[in-house]
Amino acid sequence: MVHRWEEPFLAGEGGSGAFFFTGCSLRCVFCQNHAISTRDVGEDLTPEEAAVRMLSLQAQGAENIDLVSPSHFAPGIADAVRIAKGRGLSVPVVWNSNAYEKPETLERLAGVVDVFLPDLKHFDPQVAKDLCGAPDYFARASEAVRAMLRIAGPARYHVDRLAGGLAVRHLCLPGLVPDSLALLDWMAHNLPLATPISLMRQYTPMHRAVEGVPGYPALSRRLVTHEYRKVVARAEALGFTNLWVQEKESASARFTPDFPNG
Ligand code: SF4
Repeated sequence: MVHRWEEPFLAGEGGSGAFFFTGCSLRCVFCQNHAISTRDVGEDLTPEEAAVRMLSLQAQGAENIDLVSPSHFAPGIADAVRIAKGRGLSVPVVWNSNAYEKPETLERLAGVVDVFLPDLKHFDPQVAKDLCGAPDYFARASEAVRAMLRIAGPARYHVDRLAGGLAVRHLCLPGLVPDSLALLDWMAHNLPLATPISLMRQYTPMHRAVEGVPGYPALSRRLVTHEYRKVVARAEALGFTNLWVQEKESASARFTPDFPNG
């Protein structure tokens, strides 16, 4: 689908040519895409068929190919992108993942993926265990993000759109400001300060968070302004020069994709 709600540094009016892949390597209790991340839905595509869809999205005006939750299909996606690039795919290919990936998987994407866009989720192993079932999340994700920077380099632009390199997203969660601050501290010490950092405030209780998560009562509400301000203030104080922030109105189910098979 052409997806029009990504950050302006990724796509403007043309939107992103998004592929949402079925399944996910994590099991986040608050997953906004749970209709496809936890179930076996969607269409089977060969690399050849996926390449045709990529070219079709480019022909519709999509400003990039946005591969959402792609990790577990990496070899087939790499084949598809190579086929599509051989036939004229020229928009940037964006790897939009949860960063719970092995460096050796990412290294096989060199020359295939132009932009790495990890969503860096949790710092604390207990939080990661409780909320996404992966206590080793940060240990693996931090290595993955370093590998992405090594492979694709710092962010680079064509006019005002990201054409290559690394950009990082982080979804700020209610009641978990210290975890967000710890992630920002790590990023400031390990990534160029010009790395585009998108601090997402769009959290809306969904999936298992609707009924309440033991030990995390705040996940049943939205983020409040003073929580978000603390996270943004830390990012500014650390010296990041390319910060993207969201309005309060972004925390709405309106901005959650509706999956017809979900
Ligand atoms: S990583 Fe993203 S898609 Fe996967 S379960 Fe977590 S929120 Fe859902």
